[in-house]
Amino acid sequence: MVLDSYGRLSRVPETGELEKIDTQWADNRKVIERIGASLGEQLKDGLSAWKRSVRRPGWERLLERVESGESDGIVVWHTDRLFRQPRDLEKLIELGERGFKIYSAHGERDLSRADDRFILRIEVAQACKSSDDTSRRIKRRFATKREQGAGYLGGPRRFGWPGKDLAWVPGPEETDKDRPDVTADQVERERTALREGTDAQLAGIGQGTIANEWNAAGLRTALGREWIAVTVKSVLSRPMNAGLIEHDGKLVGRMEGDPIVDPEDFERLRAIYAARRRGRVVGERYIGTGILRCWLCRMKLSAAPKDTVYKDTGERRAVYFCNKQRRGCGKVYGDRRAIDHELRLLVIARQSDSRHASAVAAARARVADRLADLRAEIGECEQLQEALSERLGLREIRLDAFDRANKPLAADLARLRAERDQLSGGNADGPVEAQPPEEVARQWDDGDVSERRTMLTSALEKNVLYLKPAARTGARVFDRERLTFDDPEDPSGTAE
Ligand SMILES: [Zn+2]
Repeated sequence: MVLDSYGRLSRVPETGELEKIDTQWADNRKVIERIGASLGEQLKDGLSAWKRSVRRPGWERLLERVESGESDGIVVWHTDRLFRQPRDLEKLIELGERGFKIYSAHGERDLSRADDRFILRIEVAQACKSSDDTSRRIKRRFATKREQGAGYLGGPRRFGWPGKDLAWVPGPEETDKDRPDVTADQVERERTALREGTDAQLAGIGQGTIANEWNAAGLRTALGREWIAVTVKSVLSRPMNAGLIEHDGKLVGRMEGDPIVDPEDFERLRAIYAARRRGRVVGERYIGTGILRCWLCRMKLSAAPKDTVYKDTGERRAVYFCNKQRRGCGKVYGDRRAIDHELRLLVIARQSDSRHASAVAAARARVADRLADLRAEIGECEQLQEALSERLGLREIRLDAFDRANKPLAADLARLRAERDQLSGGNADGPVEAQPPEEVARQWDDGDVSERRTMLTSALEKNVLYLKPAARTGARVFDRERLTFDDPEDPSGTAE
């Protein structure tokens, strides 16, 4: 009996080390010796052989030898080295149905036997499913981390998990090497907080309240900061707390051991968050939120309704304010209606100002030229990259040559794409002609909140509009000087 030996260069997922073909062949020879067969050809394929688009000379040679009857079987470490997809197995079955043997870590399979074909088909289907390689890599990495006692997917320590204490500050004689692990006691307290926080959210208690409770109990984020509503939400949304391993939003596995939070509770909570996200149009209830900024701390302003009404219209009062729950200073606030009134005047003044309109038009024209250049450059880089990959696939160049040539290309592409996204991210479609003020006013008055926000953004272009704190004069009238383009760091007014 003549057995071929097959090796495929690959990396050990945990360490990135190469599983050398020589090693694989040496192991295969031992198997052939043990069976008492003779060694036919030693076949191999390269690192990228798992990719569908890449040719595999070793595999193709094997098919030839099976077809011609020169080979009675193949020895390989694992069947998943041999078969990229079920189609590969079917091909081999077709050629070797009258008797071809596969020896691997899974045992001996004979393609002339229906039972063995059945088993192989299941093995290959499973291997394909899990060798959705990312998923397998992540699981392996996770398994290794677990063995090391870290219990999570790597990276910095997460709240509720063991690891290096990120809140620790080195003393005068200490360096980062001295950074201690958090205590088991602290991890346990954090885990209790995660469970109780999830229960509280499911019972309708707000994130702000939970943040306050955690702060009062002396709990801090993994980085040692105080809790605010958004960080509470983000920490309660982590799948790993429920023992779920997700990658790009897809479940790829479950962690061993008891999850911190009941997976069912976690899914319910996530459903609630998702429903809220769908139900709410972000920031569309007020014209200035996320656009106006606090003059003291530069954070974007939030808005919230009040319990009182404007006497003349009966409309509910609201304020713009610098939001502590969004890491703002909390010191600046102003009446919603008064500020919206000023925003309306500002938009009318700017959009009907021919100097402003022509400046906007010129700026857009400059951007348009640059954008066209960028698109052309990106296209060129992509073509080069494609040509390179093609040559690699045809084995006209080696992998290391490909890497050398591709590295600067990839860097260029990243830079070009970032600039393109930044330039095209602005509002490039607004009017560039000056309009009569009555026309702008009519658009504003007829528009809904979202249309007014678009008009405001368009009128501001690259300028930032700040809200200053109120002077303590007790005046009831809104002081329009509080809205300013001045840069707080550079009050000379060069911002406009
Ligand atoms: Zn502020």
